[in-house]
Amino acid sequence: MIQSPLLEILVATRNQGKIREIQQALRFSPIKLRYLDEFSNVLSVDEVGWTYQENAIRKALGYSRQTGVCSLADDSGLEVDALGGMPGIFSARFGGDNASDTRRIESLLTELSRHPDKERTARFICCMALAGWQSQGEPVNTANPQLLALTEGSCEGTVAPSPRGLNGFGFDPVFVPRNYDATFAELPAEIKNNISHRAVAVTSMRAFLDHWLAQT
Ligand code: IMP
Repeated sequence: MIQSPLLEILVATRNQGKIREIQQALRFSPIKLRYLDEFSNVLSVDEVGWTYQENAIRKALGYSRQTGVCSLADDSGLEVDALGGMPGIFSARFGGDNASDTRRIESLLTELSRHPDKERTARFICCMALAGWQSQGEPVNTANPQLLALTEGSCEGTVAPSPRGLNGFGFDPVFVPRNYDATFAELPAEIKNNISHRAVAVTSMRAFLDHWLAQT
């Protein structure tokens, strides 16, 4: 039986890699996904916080306030132990604000080349926030969205000595998840979408949404 969508959620990111992974995770939910491209004049919400949580919450609240749609935002990053946890929350700006993914990877490998080969442990972190209004279908005060849910996920691994693979985005070509030999960019999307930091965070978010939808 096909269920009609009960809830609209804005996927509050312009990162196509994140969008694909979130679409995949929520594909069987009776939720209509909306995208920033559908809205004109939406201003970017700056990531000026000092934690993933703060940035995810800022983005979810900021986009729901601007669009009037419940918004799901994620803030994520790669923490490399030998670099004291860098680039971490600065991952999207590592190597320069407008640097390409290739350039960011080069910067990371250059930094790491100063450290012994065995010191390559790292983890991806993802914090996901959902903001909006409790009462679906009723008039809402769009100026005043609330934080509805906050979830987190992490994925341990190591940084490969050179990039391998074509899938994914960002640092995927140099991240080898624990218990695998291949990088995220070499593994099929279904595997990354099962074990990644974002998969863990979105699975918890899905559990929240299922519970929430069951109550409305
Ligand atoms: P932000 O969440 O928009 O601040 O961006 C996070 C940055 O961390 C991305 O631009 C990537 O460089 C990196 N990143 C986060 N998640 C992933 C992932 O799943 N694969 C590869 N890189 C990621």
